[in-house]
Amino acid sequence: MGDVVPETEAPADAPTPRYSTHIVLTTYPGQSGIDPVPLNWGAADAQSRGPVLVSRSGPLLKRRNALGAHGGSYSIYNALAIAAGDLAADFRPDLRNSEPTFRFPWQPAWADAHRIVSMDPYGHDVVEQFRAELAAGWDIRPTMAVTRANMKLAEIGEAVRAGQLEVDGSIVVDAAGEVRVTKVAVEPVWYLPGVAERFGCDEGTLRRALFEHTGGSYPELITRPDLKVFLPPIGGLTVYIFGPPERVSDEKVKLALRIHDECNGSDVFQSDICTCRPYLAFGIREAIREAQAGGSGVVIYFRKEGRALGEVVKYLVYNARKRGGDTADKYFTRTENIAGVRDMRFQALMPDILHWLGIKKIDRMLSMSNMKYDAIVQSGIRILERVPIPDEMIPSDSRVEIDAKINAGYFTTGKQYSMDELAQVKGRGWEKWEDVTHSID
Ligand SMILES: [Zn+2]
Repeated sequence: MGDVVPETEAPADAPTPRYSTHIVLTTYPGQSGIDPVPLNWGAADAQSRGPVLVSRSGPLLKRRNALGAHGGSYSIYNALAIAAGDLAADFRPDLRNSEPTFRFPWQPAWADAHRIVSMDPYGHDVVEQFRAELAAGWDIRPTMAVTRANMKLAEIGEAVRAGQLEVDGSIVVDAAGEVRVTKVAVEPVWYLPGVAERFGCDEGTLRRALFEHTGGSYPELITRPDLKVFLPPIGGLTVYIFGPPERVSDEKVKLALRIHDECNGSDVFQSDICTCRPYLAFGIREAIREAQAGGSGVVIYFRKEGRALGEVVKYLVYNARKRGGDTADKYFTRTENIAGVRDMRFQALMPDILHWLGIKKIDRMLSMSNMKYDAIVQSGIRILERVPIPDEMIPSDSRVEIDAKINAGYFTTGKQYSMDELAQVKGRGWEKWEDVTHSID
């Protein structure tokens, strides 16, 4: 099998050097040649703010003005591709024709160092704003992208068939429920003093915690206090806009909005232990409706799987719930036992994207979460109405979750349960599963 390689040729898998033998483990502000490109977070426009530069390649190492790497959690795959020899270490993307499909109008929040601290407000526009720097070979990359697409969701098709949504030919395109949408993807870019402020700690404590609990992966969190911007290895978010995107920031029209945190098991695979997918589908339907009525509809999807605890912790909690008697009164205790907290989503950074979009008020907030509500209202955006998920959309096994949340203060227009009543709200056990296992035996 395979060709015989003549002895005179180097074997195909011979390592090729991708880096110089001299490794700079970390840098210091006073080190020779260290000269970061100025980065003035909160400046009035992209040029006076300056580009975000994280590259360590060649001479850029000394001119960097930010820590971390592009791609959020995918930065590691990028490193793997380079290690595997599939990608050159000095690769520069060709960004021609990648510009946004819609030019979002500049908002005062883009120039406010306190309103936007977890994304680069000019991250969508680097091709336009930093043309000369890109031409000079600086490794500047977009951290946001704006595109448009058609999407098709089973529940939207059903809503069209049930007469709950009409085909208007421009938002809902056809009777199968195909929908036109503008999408904005955002990678996290953290301005550390601003993030620390949101979490009520000092910047030094934040930097130390990030350094220690990423296994010391980012030493410059400690050695380069002059660098204030960090691109963390976490997931980002996607904005789905229904109707003309220019309406989102228009205070004169109504806005329906859902903030949705990722739940892969329900969102994609439709497991019935929680209300995530039904609430997402309801949010999309109502967002479309608002857009069809001349307003605007927005759904924002955050990559914060399982309350930002991840799927492993989430499944451990499921097991503890099912084995320990799955009742709504113990719902949060089970999570706290395993994760130490009941929720790690910390909505403190979430409103940044709303300010970026220029949202000043939300007419219909398609969420029952008090954490989301409080974060948005405290950031200066008014919420006129909160809309709970309709009862008929709640899967029976997810009553444990939803009733526990309502008892813990989640917004509802329906019944609020006492602890005694919550003890009576039980999830489905595994009895039938055990039967299946036995019958296979
Ligand atoms: Zn869920």
